[in-house]
Amino acid sequence: MGSRRVWGLRNCVVGGITTIGFWFLGAAGTVSAQSDSSQQPFSIAGHVVSPGTTATLKLLDSNSFDAAELSMPLLVAHGAMPGPVLCLTGGIHGDEINGVEVARRAFAQTDASTLKGTLVVAPLINHEGFRSGSRYMPDRRDLNRYFPGHASSSVADYVASNLFETVIANCDALIDLHTASFKRANQPQIRVDAASAESFAMARHFAQAIIVVGKGPQGSLRRAAVAAGIPAIIYEAGGPLRFEPEFIEPGVAGVVSVMRYLDMLDGEPVTIAEDRIFRDATWLRVPNGIGGGFFFPTVPLGAKVSKDEYIGQVVSPTTNISTEVHADRDGEVIGAAFAQPVLTGYALFHIGVGGAAAGPVDKEEAKAVADDDDLSH
Ligand SMILES: [Zn+2]
Repeated sequence: MGSRRVWGLRNCVVGGITTIGFWFLGAAGTVSAQSDSSQQPFSIAGHVVSPGTTATLKLLDSNSFDAAELSMPLLVAHGAMPGPVLCLTGGIHGDEINGVEVARRAFAQTDASTLKGTLVVAPLINHEGFRSGSRYMPDRRDLNRYFPGHASSSVADYVASNLFETVIANCDALIDLHTASFKRANQPQIRVDAASAESFAMARHFAQAIIVVGKGPQGSLRRAAVAAGIPAIIYEAGGPLRFEPEFIEPGVAGVVSVMRYLDMLDGEPVTIAEDRIFRDATWLRVPNGIGGGFFFPTVPLGAKVSKDEYIGQVVSPTTNISTEVHADRDGEVIGAAFAQPVLTGYALFHIGVGGAAAGPVDKEEAKAVADDDDLSH
């Protein structure tokens, strides 16, 4: 594990929004103003990066008998001035390439000479999946169900544990970058565990996304990070297998806003409005009994819908009988399947209820949409 500076996270409440303040803790444990501290070299993955410089490193040399490539790039911008270590992770699901591009752009525009703190980017974690267009690892496992991992188990476990111990454990905060899975798209959204005040404060400053509250599945990177005391959020936007600038740009803007919030960059962060927080969301699925069919939505991603509104149909190609899909509540389409053939039970529309209509944010019983739905992270 690389050595790192120790940063104290302290919470304060300003105007009803929980914010995080960072104070540098010196070797003797005394608190000093960060502007009084000189920046030290940053050590990670066996490398040392000098203040005010960037480095491209390689993490996880292959140990496979067939020389299967498990390594991944690791990009570091070590600021000239002290500050927190923010980590960006992309490509945990190899086909979710919008996140890989968000990571690339965010790193490319970071100037280490003016940066306060350190930006660590693992942009392409499932390297093989990225090349082959697959969500999964070479052992067919979903890497985002194996964190924090075990070094002596499956390939997914091995990669997860190395990433977690070498990179994630060095982070003061984490943003994990994803898209919707399979043939679906997500409205740009932050997924966050509202019970983690520091994570939620990061989410509130992501600028241009909605916030969807939930802990995330067991074994997901962000859930494991939060359990280890590292504030973590996920940005989910668009669909897999293609670059979508309209979903990439809000991601980059959100990362910049969070870096401003963490005082890594100059400038004011942008706060997401209260009514863009979704604490209640469920998937509408193909009803049982119609045998699936051909799905055609009639409302776009982001549409506001009313309870019982007609929003699409599933047509049986054998009987030509059409089954209408109606919204089950007043809400907003925050995720949706593309027009495609669908089987019984296939998830069609993710309908969320935002703002005060969904109840208080910090209630344990608030619907954890990402907990019970494997389509989510
Ligand atoms: Zn994903």
